[in-house]
Order: sequence, then C-alpha cells, then structure tokens
Amino acid sequence: MKKHPTTRTRVRRLPKRGAYDRATIDAILDEGLVCHVGFVVDGQPFVIPTLHARDGDRLLLHGSAASRMLRTLDEGVAVCVTVTLADQLVIARSAFHSSMNYRSVMLLGKARLIEEPAAKMEALRALVEHLIPGRWDDCRQPNATEMKATWILELPIDEASAKIRTGGPIDDDEDYELDFWAGVLPLAKGFGKPVADVKLKNGVKPPSYLTRYARPSRARSASLELPPKRSPRSRAPRKPR
Ligand SMILES: Cc1cc2nc3c(=O)[nH]c(=O)nc-3n(C[C@H](O)[C@H](O)[C@H](O)COP(=O)(O)OP(=O)(O)OC[C@H]3O[C@@H](n4cnc5c(N)ncnc54)[C@H](O)[C@@H]3O)c2cc1C
Repeated sequence: MKKHPTTRTRVRRLPKRGAYDRATIDAILDEGLVCHVGFVVDGQPFVIPTLHARDGDRLLLHGSAASRMLRTLDEGVAVCVTVTLADQLVIARSAFHSSMNYRSVMLLGKARLIEEPAAKMEALRALVEHLIPGRWDDCRQPNATEMKATWILELPIDEASAKIRTGGPIDDDEDYELDFWAGVLPLAKGFGKPVADVKLKNGVKPPSYLTRYARPSRARSASLELPPKRSPRSRAPRKPR
C-alpha cells in the first residue's frame, strides 16, 4: 500500500476527514457488507453493488462466471470500489449544514482472476468468513461444478483513501441562537434473530455465530462531539461533505 495519498486519492474537500492508513481503511472494508464496483464499458460507467471481503492486502469480489462485471474486470480495466458505512444523520439548525456521519473507503486499481484451485478455494473461504465468521467449516464446501461456475477476483489494496465524518452539526455562528433542535440521530444497525428455513430439518439449531452475529467493531467512534469553534469567514459558506 502506498504510504501517502496519490494525486487520485488525496481528499481535497475537507482534507482533515481523509485517512490513508491501512488500519482505518481495513476496519471500514471489514465492517462493510456491500461494496460498489465502478468500471467503464464502451464509455458508459456502471456501478454494481456486490459482496466483498478483505483478505490481507487484497479485496475479493466474486460471482457468476458469466458476470459482465467480473469478465470486464478480468480484462484489466481500471476499477473503483467504494464501501460506505452510514452512521448518523446530522441535524443542523439550517438545512444547508444538515449532513451525515459516515465512514467510507475508495479503492482504485486493477483486479485479476484467481484461477489456481487451492488459491481460489482459499479466497472463497475468506469471502464466506467475511460475511459470516465461523460459517466456512459449518457448511458444505463448493464442489467442482460450483467452483467452475464461480469466478473470484482479487484487487490489491494499494491505492486507497478513507473519508470519515464524526461529530455534531457545524452551524453558522448566528444560527446557534435559533430555536430549532440540533444534534445527531444514530442509525441503529444490527441483526435480528435467525429465521429458520421452512425446509430446515427438525432439531437443527442455529449456531452461536448466527445468534450472536455482529460486524467487527468500528474504525472510529461516531459519537456526538462538540463542533469546532469557527473562525469568521471572509467568503461565502461552502457545504461540508
Ligand atoms: C447487496 C447485493 C449483493 C450482491 N452480491 C453479489 C455478489 O457477491 N456477486 C455477484 O456476482 N453479484 C452480486 N450481486 C448482484 C450484482 O449487483 C449484479 O447484479 C451481478 O453481479 C450481475 O452483474 P453483471 O455485471 O453481470 O450485470 P448485468 O446483468 O450484465 O447488468 C446489466 C444491467 O442490469 C442492471 N443491473 C445489474 N445488476 C443490478 C443491480 N444489482 N441492481 C439494479 N440493476 C442492476 C443494470 O442496468 C446493468 O447495466 C449483489 C447485489 C446486491 C444488491
């Protein structure tokens, strides 16, 4: 991983919210369940929602061997993958400064197909374990037909940025006197109790990795912090993002 942001990954708008260290980036990738994969075909951008897993220094993407997304990436086209964690609605006194607390990662690069059978199986294991830790050893492993029907690609985590917003609203000085409520509204995230399949065999109990399922802990607390003191502005306000 490049130690510093590249010209393509340096956060320009509110650079203090940018982070480039692997611990921050990895924590967001690990907590996220869904990524968005952007690529261009014949001049037309497509952004495909899909599952992912981080395995060490690579991000894994998988799907049908017939997937246009995977076949396009296998051609070596440039790809942009994002993972977004929405944490809180930020309720400002003004509509203009209303916002959201979030943690997101953008990863650029080129992906390659994993073909060697043992490496492919290991990548599939990592993908299943990312989604449901403990599941790989507690389900039927893919057979040869299923392996053939599945493609899995790896994208090196080499050029990436994180951007994180935490804290309360940052209103204009004169607006703090207004009578509108302000603060944050946390987005409650969690999983319910496992719901058994209608065809589940009698007596099969849900494993503890499902009854106690939780995503890995957060990269950075999204708690309510006091807004920083603002210095008087000499130019028109710009909306933070
Ligand atoms: C939460 C989630 C997780 C998923 N996980 C995986 C995964 O791990 N692996 C995987 O292969 N696929 C996954 N999918 C499905 C994925 O989004 C694509 O539909 C699939 O990969 C087929 O891709 P393709 O490029 O072959 O699509 P194509 O069928 O070739 O796409 C053709 C057109 O269909 C439309 N389209 C395709 N996908 C979507 C979509 N998801 N939503 C709306 N319109 C769409 C678009 O207009 C697109 O241009 C997931 C989808 C979601 C929402």
